[in-house]
Amino acid sequence: MSSATHQLAVDPEGTPTTGGTLFVDGEWRKGAAQRPVLNPADASEICRVDEASAEDAAEAVAAARAAFEAGVWTSKSLAERSAVLHRVADLLQENRSQIARIETLDTGKTLRESEIDVDDVTAVFRYYAALALGDPGRLVDAGDPAVVSRVVYEPVGVCALIGPWNYPLLQISWKIAPALAAGCTAVLKPSEVTPLTTIVLVGLLARAGVPAGVVNLVLGSGAVAGAALVESEDVDLVSFTGGLNTGRTIMRSAAATVKKVALELGGKNPNIVFADADRDAAIDTALTAVFLHAGQVCSAGTRLLLEDSIHDEFVAELVRRAELIRIGAGLNPDTEMPPLVSAEHLAKVEEYVRVGVAEGARLLTGGSRVAEDQAGYFYRPTIFVDCHREMRIVQEETFGPIVTVERFTTEDEAVRLGNDTRYGLAGGVWTSDRARAQRVAAHLRHGTVWINDFGPYLPQAEWGGFKLSGTGRELGPSGLAEYREAKHVYENTAPQAAFWFSSGVVQQGGS
Ligand code: NAP
Repeated sequence: MSSATHQLAVDPEGTPTTGGTLFVDGEWRKGAAQRPVLNPADASEICRVDEASAEDAAEAVAAARAAFEAGVWTSKSLAERSAVLHRVADLLQENRSQIARIETLDTGKTLRESEIDVDDVTAVFRYYAALALGDPGRLVDAGDPAVVSRVVYEPVGVCALIGPWNYPLLQISWKIAPALAAGCTAVLKPSEVTPLTTIVLVGLLARAGVPAGVVNLVLGSGAVAGAALVESEDVDLVSFTGGLNTGRTIMRSAAATVKKVALELGGKNPNIVFADADRDAAIDTALTAVFLHAGQVCSAGTRLLLEDSIHDEFVAELVRRAELIRIGAGLNPDTEMPPLVSAEHLAKVEEYVRVGVAEGARLLTGGSRVAEDQAGYFYRPTIFVDCHREMRIVQEETFGPIVTVERFTTEDEAVRLGNDTRYGLAGGVWTSDRARAQRVAAHLRHGTVWINDFGPYLPQAEWGGFKLSGTGRELGPSGLAEYREAKHVYENTAPQAAFWFSSGVVQQGGS
C-alpha cells in the first residue's frame, strides 16, 4: 500500500480520524474536555478536538523528557535523522491537496495559499534534513600542540513549540523541523483556533519514523496548556510565534526556570515606494503585501509610505484595484481574499477601523464587513490616507486587511518613517536606483528587507525580528542553532602540573 493511501489523522472534511487528538508518548488520547473548531467561511462547526489540561501537558513533557534521556532520537545517526525528515517531506507532498484543504477549512485562507504553505513546509523539512548532516562541529586551534580542542553541537533537550493561528502548519514546521534535525524532543501546542494541520503533521511525523515520545501534541488554551509548558522545569527551550503581549508573558514566565526563549512576534511593516519605482509592479505588490490572507500576516505591508509626487495617482489605482478583489470562501477557486479567522478577530479589526476614523485618518475604501448578515467573517480591503505616526492604526498591528498611507519627500524621511515603529520584522523599498535601494536597506532596522518585492522568504535565509518583533531567528543555519547547545571539549594530551599554588609542593629528586 502506498503511503498516500494511508488515512491522515484528520480527514478531508476536517474530522479527526484518531481516537483522540492529543498525542503523548506515541499514542493518541482524549482530553477531559473538547472544543469546537469553526470554519471561518461560514462559522459552521468543522469538528471537535480535545482540550489538554495542565496535567496532560505535564504528561506530554514527561514523555518528551523520557525520550530525550533515553536517547531514542538523539542516539540515531545524523543520516538516520536526516532520512526521517526527508520522509516527512515526501509524505507532505503525497498528501498535499488533502492537507491544503484541511488548512483552508480551518484557517479560511485560500486553497492556493494553503498549497503554497505545504510546498514551503516541504522545502523547510528538506533543508533541515540536509543541514543536519553537514555540521559535525569544529576543531579549534588552542595554540598549544598538546591540546586538542573541539566544539561540538548537542541538542538543547525538550522543546515547547507554540504556534499562532495564521500559518499553523508553516509556523510549527519552522520549529519542529530544525528541532528534530538538532536531536531535540518536543511538545507542540498549536493555536486553539486552528489545530487541524498540526494534528495531521504529528501523524505524519510518526508515520515517517519519529519514535514514540519524541514529538508530543497538546491542544487547548494558551493560558492552561501553553502556560504549563512554559513553566515546566523539564522544558529546556520555548519557541513561540504569536503576539507581543503573549511573548512578554512567556518571557517573564520562562525566567523562573531560565529556559532558552525564541520569540517570533508581530510586525508593523513599512512598504516604501519612491517615485522612480516600477509603478505597476509596486501597486500590484502593495495589494498582495497587505490583502493576502486578509492581512493576517506578521510581515504584511500594512504601512505604505509613498513619495509625495506619486501619492495621489498611486492611491487612486490602489483603491480601484482593491475594490475589485474577489472576497469569498478559501475553497472557492475564484476567491482572492478570504475571511478573517474568527468572530473575535473580526471584532478587533472593526474596532481598529473605528479608531482610525476617530483619529482623523481618511477612509477611502472598505471599512466594513462584506455583508452584515453573512455568517462568515468577511471584511473589505480597507485603505486609509492622511495617516501620521501618532495614530494607533499606524503604530499597532491591526492584523486585518487595512493599509495606512503616509507621504515622504526625501530618502532620509522615508528611512526615518520606515524605522518609526517599535517593531522590526520586515520592510520593503521600491526604486529603480539600486544604490539608493541598498542604502535604504542598510538603514532599515528590520529582520528582512525586500527590494522591489514584498513577502518572499527562503528556507536558507534567516527570518526574525529586530526590536519588539522578537528574539532569535528561524530558518537558515541560525534556525538550527536555536536548538543546539555548543559544547567545548578541551583535551590536554600531555598534562603537567603548573604549580600555581606552590606552597607545600614536594620537590622531586632534590637533595
Ligand atoms: P497569540 O494570541 O499570542 O497566541 C499564540 C499562541 O500562544 C497560541 O497557541 C496561544 O494559545 C498561545 N498562548 C497564549 N497565551 C499563552 C501563555 N500564557 N503561555 C503559553 N502560550 C500561550 O497569537 P495569535 O493571535 O495566535 O497569532 C497572531 C500573532 O502572531 C500576530 O501578532 C502575528 O504578528 C504573530 N506572528 C508572528 C510571526 C513571525 O514570524 N514573527 C508569524 C506568524 C504570526 P491559544 O490562542 O490557543 O489560547
